[in-house]
Amino acid sequence: MTTSFTFPKNTFSKGGVHPLECKELTAGKAIEVMPVPAELELVLTQHIGAPCTPNVAKKDELEEGAVIAEVTKGLGVPVHSPVAGKVKSIGTSTHPMQVSTPSITIVVDREASAAEYTKKEWQNEDPQVLLGKVRDAGIIGIGGAGFPTHVKLAPPKNMKIDTLVLNGAECEPYITADQRHMVEHPAEIIEGARIILRILGISHCIIGIESNKPDAIDALTKAASEHGDSACQIEVRSLEVKYPQGSEKQLIESVTGRKVPAYALPSAIGVVVQNVSTAKAIYDAVVFEKPLYEKVITVSGRGIERPANLLVKVGTKVQDVVDYLGGIRPGLKKIVLGGPMMGFAVSTLDIPITKTTSSILFLTEDEIDTSPHSACIRCGWCLDACPMGLEPKEVGIYVEANHAEETEPFGVFECFECGSCAYVCPAKRPLVQFVRLAKMKAKRNQ
Ligand code: SF4
Ligand code: SF4
Repeated sequence: MTTSFTFPKNTFSKGGVHPLECKELTAGKAIEVMPVPAELELVLTQHIGAPCTPNVAKKDELEEGAVIAEVTKGLGVPVHSPVAGKVKSIGTSTHPMQVSTPSITIVVDREASAAEYTKKEWQNEDPQVLLGKVRDAGIIGIGGAGFPTHVKLAPPKNMKIDTLVLNGAECEPYITADQRHMVEHPAEIIEGARIILRILGISHCIIGIESNKPDAIDALTKAASEHGDSACQIEVRSLEVKYPQGSEKQLIESVTGRKVPAYALPSAIGVVVQNVSTAKAIYDAVVFEKPLYEKVITVSGRGIERPANLLVKVGTKVQDVVDYLGGIRPGLKKIVLGGPMMGFAVSTLDIPITKTTSSILFLTEDEIDTSPHSACIRCGWCLDACPMGLEPKEVGIYVEANHAEETEPFGVFECFECGSCAYVCPAKRPLVQFVRLAKMKAKRNQ
């Protein structure tokens, strides 16, 4: 497998679309600390894999940052209490993906003072010790699917890693949480990148940011020169604005010119990718030994009274966020967790925010397309839009003909559900839903 560089063009070669950015609603809004609500509901499936097991009981008193649930099987990271308080109940909640999941509800102690964390030196720490701190702090890929970060930072020994790519593309419309992190915490992100480089035992990092965020590009370029380390080479790249620039395989091609082979991981071509906000969480975990129990989310759309970038405690309910931002505006039609391209519509506000929640969108009629879908007219636009070179139109046709289990040859398992195909389809076909159904049925047949 080659790991050589070809000249990167600052974008990916196949497909991609240009949805309306809609970032102006929050891009200029500084991160605002949301007051802690009376109760927090912590779901125990914050990560990919089996739920954590509670290690607290009803009525237990908790300190801020205490571990309340541990990994007892498979992949995962511990869950921490975001506040000082008391365990009200251990039961089940509605997960943002609208499935029932184990959870712990905590009543917040209003009298307790906030936890204090003191700065630690890390520069001479053993990489394995640093990796342990990342794991103990409960860090997972922020905004992604929730893959445990300490696992991603320990690639198989036979994979020779030479480049860290930090993902600051934030290509989903509306979302500006990463942008605000980059503008307001550039030095911490650069130090987080240096910690990751030490863990990986390499010296080269490329930070990819779409060119529609000049403030973030400037802030990180300046921080890289002021807070860098002569032993590390950290460069910031301005990328073409094209969705899905921030997806892992596309970003790697954009900044290194290398292509991740089908069904392989980035480590197969010598690359590890982390999000810029995850780098900030790694900085907090290593420099302050502060667990990941709060996060920045974008709350946007024309259906919310006051769009904002908020620092919220994990476990805050969507309803609490709505109340804090002045309520819902007339004309609200759809609530989406995540971006409009890859997020999930939800039907209740009684849902807790998790470590992977990047945004909550309140969309009005003008912001969504509710027209019914019709038969495929074989225009081929979805083939041109797909960044993976797949055949979503065939998947749709097979699913409608009840042959979903025969769709593997059209690449359903390579589809990462970016929604580019559905976005361009003139027949408004729900191609991502077709792919999800096809994956489910094809898996059952394997
Ligand atoms: S959702 Fe899947 S099939 Fe559609 S464009 Fe994205 S990767 Fe391709
Ligand atoms: S874009 Fe829609 S109508 Fe055109 S080929 Fe693809 S599925 Fe068919």
